[in-house]
Amino acid sequence: MNIKQKIETLREELSQHNYNYYILDNATISDYDFDIKLKELQALEDAHPEFFDANSPTQRVGGTITKNFKTTVHDSRMYSLDNSYSKEDLLDWETRIKKMVDGEVNYTCELKYDGASMNLTYENGKLLRAVTRGDGVQGDEVTANIKTINTVPLQLKGDYPERFDIRGEIILPIAGFLKMNEERIANDEEPYRNPRNTASGSLKLQDSSEVAKRPLECLLYSIVGSDLNITTQYEGLEKARAWGFKVPQEAKLVHSIDAVLDYINHWDKERHNLPYEIDGVVVKVNNLYQQDELGFTSKAPRWAMAYKFKAEQVSTRLNEITYQVGRTGAITPVANLEPVELAGTTVKRASLHNADQIEKLDIREGDEVFVEKGGEIIPKIIAVDLTKRPLESQPTTYITNCPECETELIRVEGEAKHYCPNYKGCPTQVAGRIQHFISRKAMDIDGLGGETVSLLVKEGLIRNYSDLYELTIEQVIPLERMAEKSAENLVNGIAASKQIPFERVLFALGIRFVGETVAKKLAKHYKSIDALMFASTLDLVTVDEIGERIAESVVEFFSSEENKQIIERLKSFGVQLEISAEKLAGQTEKLKGQTFVVSGVFETISRNELKKLIEDNGGKVASSISSKTSYVVAGDKMGPSKRTKAENLNIAILTEIEFLDFLK
Ligand code: AMP
Ligand code: ZN
Repeated sequence: MNIKQKIETLREELSQHNYNYYILDNATISDYDFDIKLKELQALEDAHPEFFDANSPTQRVGGTITKNFKTTVHDSRMYSLDNSYSKEDLLDWETRIKKMVDGEVNYTCELKYDGASMNLTYENGKLLRAVTRGDGVQGDEVTANIKTINTVPLQLKGDYPERFDIRGEIILPIAGFLKMNEERIANDEEPYRNPRNTASGSLKLQDSSEVAKRPLECLLYSIVGSDLNITTQYEGLEKARAWGFKVPQEAKLVHSIDAVLDYINHWDKERHNLPYEIDGVVVKVNNLYQQDELGFTSKAPRWAMAYKFKAEQVSTRLNEITYQVGRTGAITPVANLEPVELAGTTVKRASLHNADQIEKLDIREGDEVFVEKGGEIIPKIIAVDLTKRPLESQPTTYITNCPECETELIRVEGEAKHYCPNYKGCPTQVAGRIQHFISRKAMDIDGLGGETVSLLVKEGLIRNYSDLYELTIEQVIPLERMAEKSAENLVNGIAASKQIPFERVLFALGIRFVGETVAKKLAKHYKSIDALMFASTLDLVTVDEIGERIAESVVEFFSSEENKQIIERLKSFGVQLEISAEKLAGQTEKLKGQTFVVSGVFETISRNELKKLIEDNGGKVASSISSKTSYVVAGDKMGPSKRTKAENLNIAILTEIEFLDFLK
């Protein structure tokens, strides 16, 4: 087999595995073996850029940066849908239709997926482009981002038309959404509100590798084009499925409006058992010839009707408003409700967000309130049933002092939340910071859990995370539920965390707005805590992706005498507060501000080593040549199209020797 065949075979094999896994939900290879094959393909493609294919399975990881999304006119307009809310609405619709078409009318019933609509164009079985709905006439081209979604086939199977559009909804399944939020909460970032907004917000992220990290899916519902050889909507769905698209199996062909109503009633109850959110059902006249006869109004097809579910609502009593203190001191008011069944779960609490929210709705303890679980996963209070308000009811006065430490709360101009400023003494904040410090993504301390931390704080054994390193087995054993073995594990776990690299220590410090990614960027740039401590806001904002908000927070953190002392102590215990010497060896800023594209095969160095060398010396590596490329480092067998592109853009091409000399 020659190289080209080998590459093609691997691509086919990998897309088949991808299809089995994501569309059929039936894995036929282990993740490990899949990765090995993908790496093998990547290596071959790297070595043979002349066989580049924009639709190769290797392209799913993303990496393309789009600053401005190109506006693109749809080949055929993307209409919206008329809505109905009752049986009567649907019967009226049926009457209107029957006046306009002859013969029996059948319907395809589909779920109305709640996400962002997308038009995909395929040509010769390959994804040509993906465009958002926009205003229906034109949208934004977001192909690079859409390619990273595993349920979007890059290469179709079977007997597909030469060119066609297919429409679908980009959605974020609930499990994936919750997992993303777990991480955000761990990073002290505001959780996303609901899956729909998060899905649609993902489409226009500038960095496609960020999109690749989100577990998005694409569910298809309609094929558009000419000479497609399809006669009914239902047949269209089946064909799309056969070509490799994800078309939910819940779609159903029925023969009467009564059966449509049965379908609606069924899914109104069952929708909470689906892995993703729906906001209704879409009913479509099945016969495409009849669809043609019915045509469109100025806004929507006459042959389709959305049936919107009512957001589920219940009323219940608000027993008490309590206040939670986060590790940064932010206060969140919480409504404690008389437990009530809503959308398949028992609801006991609802977030009230902040003081303004309470005031706006005039929510009071003792009120009967309406709770809704619409697009939001966390239930919210939408109104008060004033007819049931007790006579003696009094307006809610928001707390003025911290529920944990009694310190007077502050509210910063322009921010919605109140804060407890007692950074040092507020027990919840103190324990919260230590809990963050030991968490899995930070210092990952084995044998120590959140509850033990609270206990240690309560017993006065620790006041901040640097105290952890002085804990002894003897001190820990007397604690509740501690045995000698577990005390030993705890102390050993703490000692082991001294090996955790600087970037994670920096994240563990819990500086506001410094999540994992920011911590990495700062660690890479400043290399040691000493350098970072001396950085001014002005200096900080020059670092890639560091904005003013982060910069100010970093400066504020290090301006505290107490924090400085804590850092000194961490240092004295041997916690990693700089990039280790091995990592540092060979790192310079020589290539700062320059972007390189590496292409071809090299003699004295591997491609990955070359890329690392560029990054270690402060340069950036990009995957494709553009006007922003400073240099192309070309090895043997660089693709001819890349060379032409570099030449056309007047970009200097360096050989491997020239590059290495250049570094010296
Ligand atoms: P609306 O935005 O309320 O006018 O509803 C129209 C939108 O519903 C379309 O743009 C699609 O994005 C979305 N939709 C979700 N599921 C379906 C489906 N099964 N068939 C047609 N449209 C759907
Ligand atoms: Zn407090």
